[in-house]
Amino acid sequence: MKIICIGRNYAQHIAELENERPSEPVVFLKPDTAILLSKQPFFIPEFTNDVHHEVEVIVKINRLGKHIDQKFAHKYYDEIGLGIDFTARDVQQQCKEKGLPWEKAKSFDGAAVVSQQFIKKEELGDLNNLKFELFKNDTLQQEGDTSHMLWDIDAIIAHVSQYFTLKIGDLIFTGTPAGVSQVVPGDTLKGILANREMFHIKVK
Ligand code: MG
Repeated sequence: MKIICIGRNYAQHIAELENERPSEPVVFLKPDTAILLSKQPFFIPEFTNDVHHEVEVIVKINRLGKHIDQKFAHKYYDEIGLGIDFTARDVQQQCKEKGLPWEKAKSFDGAAVVSQQFIKKEELGDLNNLKFELFKNDTLQQEGDTSHMLWDIDAIIAHVSQYFTLKIGDLIFTGTPAGVSQVVPGDTLKGILANREMFHIKVK
């Protein structure tokens, strides 16, 4: 399986990192070795001094598809989860400055927290009005609403499937809202989607 991630999909997060607003989705991949199941601790890697959490809604693909039309995209998923796109911000900054790919900053082991639980979309109602939160040490740190995405889930599927065949079990991380911050050993990170606790991890 593969993990497809969308960057710069929330205007307020683009502003906080002083990034340019993209004219089409920013796309990158994480390998399956990046997955951190929500019961495991996250160990800060040695090559970075500045890891940030980015809480993101995750879409799980349930059928094979390529060149998916946006109006049929809803048929390609029926469950939604929540995760963290961990980012070594210092490494990413170096990559950006040199115009290099971001994988070292975003695709390392443990860099993709994936909730154990996924919720059926029928239970969630309107996916373009989904609320989600990240609490760091029990303080609200990130608050998201999918209505603020520049590209919604169906638009993302239409876009990325022009480049990659989507397979059953592939995950799509849909971008983070504002409020990203550094994590340090001892922190706990709790993710909430539609009032349900989706993950609760310790940083070591
Ligand atoms: Mg992200």
